[in-house]
Order: sequence, then structure tokens, then C-alpha cells
Amino acid sequence: MSVETLCQICEDARATQQCNHCGAMVCDRHYEREDGMCLDCSSRAGPTDTDGDTYQF
Ligand SMILES: [Zn+2]
Ligand SMILES: [Zn+2]
Repeated sequence: MSVETLCQICEDARATQQCNHCGAMVCDRHYEREDGMCLDCSSRAGPTDTDGDTYQF
């Protein structure tokens, strides 16, 4: 009995990683190892080492 979980981003590849932020199961291509998050959360979290918008409160 094999239960395959598809990547919740592309829904095409088998999910092999789980996002530490939202808990989504994602495939290797949509998992950001450095952040431990899926690409969706990683992009939401904002750029960390690239020039991006700087929020000012
Ligand atoms: Zn994927
Ligand atoms: Zn996520």
C-alpha cells in the first residue's frame, strides 16, 4: 500500500519534503533547503540576502 503525496505547489511531483512553516508537503524542487520552507513561504518571507524592498515602520 503506497500512499504518495503530491507536491502542493506543482501537484505533479511526489512530495519528499515538508515545509517547516506551513507544513505543506512539497517536492524537492519546491523546497528551499536553506530556509527549511517551501518556495511559497520562502518568497513570502521576503528576500534575505538579495536587494529587495525595505519596509519602514
Ligand atoms: Zn513541486
Ligand atoms: Zn510553506
